[in-house]
Amino acid sequence: MTRRASGRVEGVVQGVGFRPYVYRLAREEGLAGYVLNDERGVLLDVEGDPAAVERFVARLPAEAPPLASIESVAWASLPPTGGRLFRILESARGGEPDAPVAADAATCAACLGELFDPGDRRHRYPFVNCTDCGPRFTIVRGVPYDRPLTTMAGFVMCPACQAEYDDPADRRFHAQPNACPVCGPTVRLGEATGDAALHLAATALLDGEIVAVKGLGGYHLACRADDEQAVARLRARKHREDRPFALMARDVATARTLVELGEAEARLLAGHERPIVLAPRRAGAPVAAAVAPRNAELGVMLPYSPLHHLLAHDTATTLVMTSGNVSDEPIAYRDDDARERLAGIADHVLLHDRPIHTRTDDSVVRAVGGRPLMLRRSRGHVPAALALPLAAPGLLACGAELKSTFCVAKGARAWVGHHIGDLRNEETLRSFTEGVAHFEELFAVSPEVVAHDLHPDYLSTTYALAREGVEHVAVQHHHAHLAAVLAEHGERGPALGAIYDGTGYGTDGTVWGGELLAGDLEGFDRAGALWPVRLPGGDRAVRQPWRMACAWLVAAQDSEPAPLPGIAPRTWQAVAQLARTGLAAPLTTSMGRLFDAVAALCGVRTEVTYEGQAAVELEAISDRSERGAYPLDVADGVLDARPTVLAVADDVAAGVEPAVVGARFHRAVAQATAQACAEIAGARGLDTVVLSGGVWQNRLLLELTLALLRDGGLRVLVPERLPPNDGAISFGQAAVAAALSPPPR
Ligand code: ZN
Ligand code: ZN
Ligand code: FE
Repeated sequence: MTRRASGRVEGVVQGVGFRPYVYRLAREEGLAGYVLNDERGVLLDVEGDPAAVERFVARLPAEAPPLASIESVAWASLPPTGGRLFRILESARGGEPDAPVAADAATCAACLGELFDPGDRRHRYPFVNCTDCGPRFTIVRGVPYDRPLTTMAGFVMCPACQAEYDDPADRRFHAQPNACPVCGPTVRLGEATGDAALHLAATALLDGEIVAVKGLGGYHLACRADDEQAVARLRARKHREDRPFALMARDVATARTLVELGEAEARLLAGHERPIVLAPRRAGAPVAAAVAPRNAELGVMLPYSPLHHLLAHDTATTLVMTSGNVSDEPIAYRDDDARERLAGIADHVLLHDRPIHTRTDDSVVRAVGGRPLMLRRSRGHVPAALALPLAAPGLLACGAELKSTFCVAKGARAWVGHHIGDLRNEETLRSFTEGVAHFEELFAVSPEVVAHDLHPDYLSTTYALAREGVEHVAVQHHHAHLAAVLAEHGERGPALGAIYDGTGYGTDGTVWGGELLAGDLEGFDRAGALWPVRLPGGDRAVRQPWRMACAWLVAAQDSEPAPLPGIAPRTWQAVAQLARTGLAAPLTTSMGRLFDAVAALCGVRTEVTYEGQAAVELEAISDRSERGAYPLDVADGVLDARPTVLAVADDVAAGVEPAVVGARFHRAVAQATAQACAEIAGARGLDTVVLSGGVWQNRLLLELTLALLRDGGLRVLVPERLPPNDGAISFGQAAVAAALSPPPR
């Protein structure tokens, strides 16, 4: 008496050691059959003793390999064939590829052991990997995920590697990037290769020099983190005035000397995604001041490639590891381009000959209230699928413009692309169009619907509208923020969204950014907003927060406001004039700009070198023990911050510390938000509040508001797997477009 069962496994099951896992499991249970990769995932067939088949069915999802993520297993009973063997069959080709590709994963413990084992044939080999770890998405050129369709295609495996690759019992069975010093990629620094190159790099770093290091998804610029001169030189050469640099610490214990790590932070830091984790900076952290000027946090990550592990080991010091680019350009990832662009910045370039197919920045995450809050979702996470709460036709969503991502979707799955960045740059725009084409091929999505932002001038909108033969869906920016959070939590609404960010095109053509939207995936109603003020000089007001201080003072008082210290009276008066007349000064309800105004009034910052800098620094100085709050009136959903701004100006004039002013302001926004949400939710019978938009990257504001909303009995949804910022817009657009489309056949 035998039984036969056929299983169809979907999810991230290719390139993660799933077939050898199935093979071993079947052998342990004494079952015959086969397993193969196909376009939908893994197809398997087992037969033998009915009790063994039953155990196999139960064990399969429960003991899956670490990098696998099973979405579903569908079983069917079939008549037994009498077979005795269990085999791994060749990948089935043809049809439309649909099998997800895995994300890149940090070096596993077994590979790390080999890396530092003098007796191992991969001792100190910077490309050691196996089915549990190593490059994936960054080297994939197509599907199915097999070596010829990766950037490892040019390396022919030596007999020893080939034997591992062919042995179902081996940890490297069908490990596509499998390599060793005999047959695989090589590191190089100038004329030196291999260990000699690594030695030169480590020596240069210890001497305070700057080394460009080719990583998984692009080049980093590295220097020692405790060397004031080295960091200052890197900052000067990179023209990246104040934006913080990320650090690479050798291990969790070293990271603890730099930042305060709670349980959630430590878990994020050590996870196989290996993101940059933002955590409160420790007093006395051995880090140069120029690493993160005027920031209360440091961004720390652990080594994630064997090359990083070797550098960390050989230098035994914390390194700055910032993306290899000049200020706002995208990270360099092609060797010729990197040599050219990084030549003026790095003293040395440590490169290797395994090509990077897709540029992928480091992901950035922070923990809030013990939960992860993604700030940039890229390497280690992309291209993992995200579930949509409803079925979508083939669709493409083009995102916003500054922290741009795209998203393709079909059925109940969406794939959000890697962080692309500011599209107003020729090279990023090219990454965007190439990335879209790559994802459409990888996930076999032929868009019938193309979603885009309502903003007519975004380059992503221009791209979307140029796609012919599709249905276009325009999605309002803050509606997309709301929808993204609902959808990532598997919900469709309705809910009340407090969506606070810098800029988004409103349905009335003005600049929105402090919005209370009542709605669901299909639509919304603007239930409230911040008091609108002028944005004097448009984009210049974003770079010069003192302009927003001027605009808010003009809105709040009848008399002529006095110029802020450091601003020439004539310039100030000209801007005040713009704010009064509205000439070259569109109306805005932007919450981000209110934070800018207050930061400028406090003397924290009158000009910024990156978006959100003023708010980041205002949060950093705010005294968390302060209990006071400024008035911020709420009436009919309108958050009137005019009395707030006047109270700030009075306190500043009276000599109150900026730390106290900042705290009272944060508390005012949190209280007004909670009050407005309670009123609107009560009036409309809503019980759920969504907090999203870039302003919620502010930990202090988020924690204060969350506590008040929960005390008021409201359920609160915050972003976790996608960022509160515009990196989530494409996913939100996809959710809205799916909800507005007729259900797919
Ligand atoms: Zn491994
Ligand atoms: Zn080899
Ligand atoms: Fe936004």
